[in-house]
Amino acid sequence: MHDRNKDCLAALREGKTGTWIRPRISGADALGHVISGGDVDAAAERFVRFAPILTMLFTSGAWDGHIVSELLDFHGPDDANWLVKGDHALPMTGSIKARGVHELLCIVEQIALSNNLSLDRLTTPEARSILGSYRVVVASTGNLGYSIGVVGRAFGLVAEIHMSADAKAWKKDRLRDIGADVVEHACDYSETIARARVAAENRRDTMFVDDEGSRHLLTGYAVAADELARQLDARGVRVDAETPLVVYLPCGVGGAPGGITYGLKRRFGDAVATVFVEPVASPCVMVALASGLASPPSVYQFGCDNGTIADGLAVPRASALMLDAVGEAIDAVVAVTDSAMLDWVRTAWNRSALRLEPSAAAAFAAHAPFNLAAKHEPEWPRLDRATHLFWATGGSKVPDPEFTALLSPDYADAEG
Ligand SMILES: *Cc1c(COP(=O)(O)O)cnc(C)c1O
Repeated sequence: MHDRNKDCLAALREGKTGTWIRPRISGADALGHVISGGDVDAAAERFVRFAPILTMLFTSGAWDGHIVSELLDFHGPDDANWLVKGDHALPMTGSIKARGVHELLCIVEQIALSNNLSLDRLTTPEARSILGSYRVVVASTGNLGYSIGVVGRAFGLVAEIHMSADAKAWKKDRLRDIGADVVEHACDYSETIARARVAAENRRDTMFVDDEGSRHLLTGYAVAADELARQLDARGVRVDAETPLVVYLPCGVGGAPGGITYGLKRRFGDAVATVFVEPVASPCVMVALASGLASPPSVYQFGCDNGTIADGLAVPRASALMLDAVGEAIDAVVAVTDSAMLDWVRTAWNRSALRLEPSAAAAFAAHAPFNLAAKHEPEWPRLDRATHLFWATGGSKVPDPEFTALLSPDYADAEG
């Protein structure tokens, strides 16, 4: 085992933050073969096919049905020009999990096909009564269940959402309000997925959205990379060896950052560096990469307790499928503290009126430790001319009382 891996695991055991970094930036040749570029293109086309239907289902405002977020400017420290990908304000559900709805669209399309329903008739009463005889089951720490539940119910599907102990009450309440079955579990996310998988087994007309093993989730997230590439191009931002792009991606089970990594490496190769960001208590991708174990270990084996305010990132074991797809292409993983996330929730709000949940603010907290680590790597390019982009993964739908509480200096104490 490399010394860098040992140091990194030793720091985690002491509850310290740390950075795991590859000796050099990986290229497109580091991508696995779990998903293909063709799969990603097919996902992009599916989103386009469904846009007219999603417009009809979500009529609030003038939304065109495309699940696309803005690329925003952000005033960083020392007058740095940073970019923010505004997935915290994605339509329908206000988090990056709106992109995971791709899997739901696959399910709906399959149901339509087997019932001879054309897509343009999916919102008719006849179609809804057919869709209502199917059940979608998913496990979540909050946002995935919220997105699958909200959009699944909008299509008329029965939605059964298994929530881990991390899930916030408001997400469960809203799901119940729209008629989803919320099943609460007092355990962590990995165990919740296992229980939900069992609950979905051998049941008629039941589909399980498997956050640990779904190609359709990965490809849905990967589409975001092409969207970003178009936005960078429109702004005249160059991405090449002299001016690389560094993307900071909050990471739970790894599907969202993994899918985006696939899409970015496919497009930009080693001119993009992807930095996964995890809570210091739940560094599941960090322990997988640093330990080099064939199947992803649990963070508990490395002295971490998975207790964090970042509910979206509270995952003790990474997705094996994601590691097969992009494990070799992840350039760095940074573990950050809850208090650093909270600081950035406040800074992003005060400086740019960005309403972020702690999981999303984690991206910013990784900038300083990552750049310090990269400076010490002889084979990394200098990053002072790089474009630094922070993926704001969620938060715009957090209710006022919850958000105000996050801004209060007493928050951490109140949460225990
Ligand atoms: C789910 C989530 C992530 C990470 O996505 P994974 O696929 O679990 O790695 C990051 N931020 C927020 C807000 C999320 O809800």
